[in-house]
Amino acid sequence: MSSSNVPTYKRILLKISGEVLMGEQGFGIDMNTVKAVAEEVAEVAGMGVELCLVIGGGNIFRGLSKAAVGMERSSADYMGMLATVMNALAMQNALEKLGVSTRVQSAIQMNAVCEPFVHRRAQRHLEKGRVVIFAAGLGAPYFTTDTAAALRAAEMRCDALFKGTSVDGVYTADPKKDATATRYESLDYMEVLSKDLRVMDASAVSLMRENGIPIVVFSIREPGGLRKVITGQGVHTVISGQA
Ligand code: UDP
Repeated sequence: MSSSNVPTYKRILLKISGEVLMGEQGFGIDMNTVKAVAEEVAEVAGMGVELCLVIGGGNIFRGLSKAAVGMERSSADYMGMLATVMNALAMQNALEKLGVSTRVQSAIQMNAVCEPFVHRRAQRHLEKGRVVIFAAGLGAPYFTTDTAAALRAAEMRCDALFKGTSVDGVYTADPKKDATATRYESLDYMEVLSKDLRVMDASAVSLMRENGIPIVVFSIREPGGLRKVITGQGVHTVISGQA
């Protein structure tokens, strides 16, 4: 194997926002996009990288969205958590079609659908080469799947938290709105917080800072992007304590 194909990280947690899964649609799950993301994951799993996945639910329901106006916050948030379970099942299906062994573990028990979250069991799945998809966020309202991703990354002792978005890194401003925006190669956790760069929730960034886990922001839409970034190539931004 050439050095450019050697993964930089042994175990990662990949966070994908629900919005990525809706593709060009304005809502819901676009199965072609799910398949494309699954292919990215399968390629890296095939290289021996241990993978945990956390998928958001924003493509279906968000606790703080207009669709939830008038609802009690907790109930709306539980609906959001259920949305993440739907996305997790769609991703599990797509991965298994590609021959990748997976398990879904939910923070809210639903035995007929998937396993409950059990740390040691998740650990064992990873050691056996299974991709573990963590669903239902933290199982508690007033949180987001970014925070859930950070907590699971720390808990599962991941070497990095990969945030797959539709943009290829962290920019000085929104590159879709501001043509002068430039991308950061690297950033310090504190810079992300003080400049309020909004790449992830502040609580997620703080948790990664406390645990010294780098956050790697890249575009999940680019074919082969995950493989490139995990082998130290491709366009991305690394957030760590060493910027
Ligand atoms: N959610 C929650 N607790 C969690 C994770 C998620 O209450 O631990 C709810 C919350 O309402 C959130 C929704 O689930 O808006 C979907 O998650 P998120 O907004 O993080 O999804 P993404 O933006 O990544 O698609």
